[in-house]
Amino acid sequence: MTITAELDSVTSSSETEYLEWHLRNYEDMPREVILKMDLLRVGHWFTDAALELASDALVKSYRLFSYDLMSMKDMKRKEHRRTPEWFAIRGGHLGLRPVIVQTTLSPDSPYVIDVVDGECKLLLDGRELCDVSFPKPLKYYRRSFEDGTKYHEIIAFGYFATVFRNCQYWGPDEECRFCDINVNVRQMKESRDFTFNTPVKPVSYVAEVARSIEQDAIDEVGYAPPIDFLISGGTILKTLHRKSEDDFYLEYASALKWGGHRRYINIQTNAKDKETMKRYRAEGVDCHHANMEVWDKRLFEWINPGKNRRIGWDNWVRWMIESVEVLGEGNARPNFVCGVELARPYGFDNIPDAVKSTGDGVDFMMRHGIFPRFNQWRREPGSDLVSQHEQPAIPLEFYIQIMRRYYESWKKYRLPFPHHDSVHPERRWGSGHATYDDMLFLNDWPNYEEEWDRGSREGLKACVTSE
Ligand code: SF4
Repeated sequence: MTITAELDSVTSSSETEYLEWHLRNYEDMPREVILKMDLLRVGHWFTDAALELASDALVKSYRLFSYDLMSMKDMKRKEHRRTPEWFAIRGGHLGLRPVIVQTTLSPDSPYVIDVVDGECKLLLDGRELCDVSFPKPLKYYRRSFEDGTKYHEIIAFGYFATVFRNCQYWGPDEECRFCDINVNVRQMKESRDFTFNTPVKPVSYVAEVARSIEQDAIDEVGYAPPIDFLISGGTILKTLHRKSEDDFYLEYASALKWGGHRRYINIQTNAKDKETMKRYRAEGVDCHHANMEVWDKRLFEWINPGKNRRIGWDNWVRWMIESVEVLGEGNARPNFVCGVELARPYGFDNIPDAVKSTGDGVDFMMRHGIFPRFNQWRREPGSDLVSQHEQPAIPLEFYIQIMRRYYESWKKYRLPFPHHDSVHPERRWGSGHATYDDMLFLNDWPNYEEEWDRGSREGLKACVTSE
């Protein structure tokens, strides 16, 4: 049987056979990466017992998008307030090293997290696969402002601040088609389970939460360690609170950068020209994420109608390259929604063409010192793509092949390891939402597992989680 015919036959068999086929046929890929890709691809579910254990963990933030394959209104056990931001997978018969996986709820998934003999386990098709552990909450998760707003709803997991929680790219002619930001903020408000429900976060709140995160770290290690923060939010087309997009976002960047010590500021906005980027740098931005979402020009125009009309593919790419000249290699980190290349109805209709297009894009960007990120597409039901068209799960084969190209280009152009000075020890090793950083750490970081256990990787050495 040819490989393609063999793959066709496992695609229609059980999820266990499907996973095992990929593990067998891609032995050059870390097994942790393949399993994590599958968990993000089809989501996972929690039994009552696992939910009980997870209730004390670092709670899922719904910080920007929902990252779920279901709506909040269908969460009958209030899963949105009882599941963790991520969980770590490890051990089992595959001998997995630890990696974190962003919680992606789907009641239909063959992956279930359960409690077996008092221990948390990941099951696939009902069979035990590996150990699972939940992240401890950070100390500041217990704090609130006088008006009742919880600190962690201002900055999630010590890092992520969505300061404008809507987007002025509105409706099918403007909004990026995979994005559920506006739907997510609406479902959060309707649930009445969140304490902060207005679109704009006050600068003073963001500054105070950052101060508190930093102070916890100082109390723990006795000095101010380096800490990363990320500022995100929707597009501002004209003005918001009488400020332009740049004036609005840079106020937060300056407040975070200069409000403490040794801070590294990431910011996500539309692509900016070189002169604007110099201003961003001067006002405290260390790393810019001009999230392009998809590389192929035709798909960029379809997937990102607002971005295409306002800036366009050519400017976007040119400005990303120029931003490296201002910020330095490794500090231009545009996001791509990995998998939308194959979205229906206008995406590629085959895996080789999709891998070639995005893989060539990765190589081009890395050649210019851009360090792209590949957040795996979660097929959120409130997004335009999923609400308008049936969107089956993207084949695992695609994710494996694109990450292989990513790793090859990273080696070829000798880019640095990614920056991860997180106050949460588990996030120093990458992000739960994808495998692009895991690939590099698992393959090339010496003593990965021992260092993971010590919670160390350069920068901050101590854990500031609450016991
Ligand atoms: S710019 Fe696109 S991805 Fe970003 S919030 Fe707006 S619609 Fe969503």
